[in-house]
Amino acid sequence: MKVLISSCVLGNPVRWNGANKKSDFIQDWAQDNNITLIPVCPEQRLLGVPRRPIRMTQNGPVVEAWAGDEEVYDSLEDTSRSILNEHPDLCGFIGLANSPTCGMSAGVRKRGATIRGAMHRVTDVPTCEVNQLRDERGRESFLNRLKKHRSNKIMNE
Ligand code: SF4
Repeated sequence: MKVLISSCVLGNPVRWNGANKKSDFIQDWAQDNNITLIPVCPEQRLLGVPRRPIRMTQNGPVVEAWAGDEEVYDSLEDTSRSILNEHPDLCGFIGLANSPTCGMSAGVRKRGATIRGAMHRVTDVPTCEVNQLRDERGRESFLNRLKKHRSNKIMNE
């Protein structure tokens, strides 16, 4: 099964400051379960490295995502969508907590609530954050969601 994963989680230096967020356990788990991990970084594709860190804020009814003085909310969604569309045989996505793009709940200033990061908003494949896979129950649950998605896809073809 093919699963996209935040590139920084695999140790690639793609964060805004060139750092990474490597999680060592994830590759072993993927290998044991016949999962091919494909690293992706929408922010690197859109803004390069290094870049200004993205800050999200509520402005009236609208959420804005600022990279320095550039507003990139829609561009981040478009970039995420095109990355996902490059993989029609995709079964899922594993992101990084708190990232405006790869986190399942990203902070928004002046909102009083979080929102899903762009990679989670624009897809219907199963998604999670890498931290949710640190315990057996989380891994089993995500694996079941991946398998269910794959079976549904095969049935609908
Ligand atoms: S956009 Fe995603 S992959 Fe790129 S640095 Fe942020 S969390 Fe990592």
